Amino acid sequence: MARTRIVATLGPATNSPEMVRALIEAGVDVFRLNFSHGTHEDHGARIKSIRKLAGEHPVAILQDLCGPKLRLRQAVKGKPGDVVDLELPASVKAGEPVLLADGIMQLEVVDARRSRVVTGGDIPFGKGINLPSSHLDIPSLTEKDRADLEFGKAQGVDLVALSFVRRAADLDEVKRSGIPVIAKIEKPEAVRNMEEIVRAADGVMVARGDLGVEIPIERVPVVQKRLIAMANRECKPVITATQMLRSMVSSPMPTRAEATDVANAVLDGTDAVMLSEETAMGEYPVQAVKVMERILLEAEPLLSPRREMLGPESADAIAHAACALAERVGAAALVVPTSSGYTARRIAGYRPRIPILVLSNSEVVRRRLSLVWGLEVIAAPWFNETAPVLERFRDSIRGLVPAGSTVVVTAGWPFARPGTTNLIHIATV
Ligand code: PGA
Ligand code: MN
Repeated sequence: MARTRIVATLGPATNSPEMVRALIEAGVDVFRLNFSHGTHEDHGARIKSIRKLAGEHPVAILQDLCGPKLRLRQAVKGKPGDVVDLELPASVKAGEPVLLADGIMQLEVVDARRSRVVTGGDIPFGKGINLPSSHLDIPSLTEKDRADLEFGKAQGVDLVALSFVRRAADLDEVKRSGIPVIAKIEKPEAVRNMEEIVRAADGVMVARGDLGVEIPIERVPVVQKRLIAMANRECKPVITATQMLRSMVSSPMPTRAEATDVANAVLDGTDAVMLSEETAMGEYPVQAVKVMERILLEAEPLLSPRREMLGPESADAIAHAACALAERVGAAALVVPTSSGYTARRIAGYRPRIPILVLSNSEVVRRRLSLVWGLEVIAAPWFNETAPVLERFRDSIRGLVPAGSTVVVTAGWPFARPGTTNLIHIATV
């Protein structure tokens, strides 16, 4: 199995339980439910079937909230120079660009009710509106998002992604739900505020679909690399998304450029790669996951472990030392009992070549960690004193490494307190 994680979006092409099962078998770690489409009933049925088919295998459910995405309330049609009716937020200013349907049609604002056509088109109602230069005085969560979030929480989704985040404070309301939040970076404002957003979020997404409309397309690769590097430093999982294998919507093979894009995302340091329309509405959803897995497996040996320390805290020193130590003693695995996943994320940050076996007694923690690079997450009992843990974890990993081999155990002590990575232990199992 690849160490880079695969996120697959479910949609009309992959609604059946057979499809969900085939996708899990092909290597999907996280299913994305896109709340821009579908009813609660649709999503509820998907959640049920994922939980049933995944069984003990940790597969996470990522609820993707629409956020303040603007959509056409009526069709817009015109040729260059025409002034057409188009309802926009009151805070837009004359002359600002308006892009419809991912930039197919371009206009400029006359006022909040009318715009002048720059590049003509005929766009049906419901398509997206992008206002890259406008400062929008609109809330970060709509009423629909609130209802969706409540639904997601009741259904026990593992992670929530929020679209069109502009600043760290936009995440506050979702964070109060207690579910880890992935900030989708797809606005110029978010790119400007990237650092505070990465620090506030539990993970980020390079949402290249809208990003490529909102900023000049030539800046997308550079933003991708900067955002991944920043997330890596903070040990926050980062997803590279959109058009990764786009041509596989209608072709059994990707283009050379797409295969190279997936491999390059791995080398940039991404935790996960994402499929959108490829699995939601494509003709080859399972094939797309299999092709992705093969590209990941081929690229991963080129990834170098990180030698320099990620941060100044003792958690970093321990994780850094654990990786170096494991390599030094020829350990068969790094073994990481974890209560919140914090220690495991810091270990993964160093991208060690040897397997990382993560032990957790919490089903939800195990599932959430399926977004993080390189972790093999295993259900294990929990003990509250050091010695029994160090002795009895052997039972949990028996058979996963050759008998008699050396492993390195790292953890935070006491276990119930997140963020206290302070223990390193070499053991023979
Ligand atoms: P979306 O987000 O598919 O929900 O628009 C991803 C992106 O914009 O890349
Ligand atoms: Mn988007």
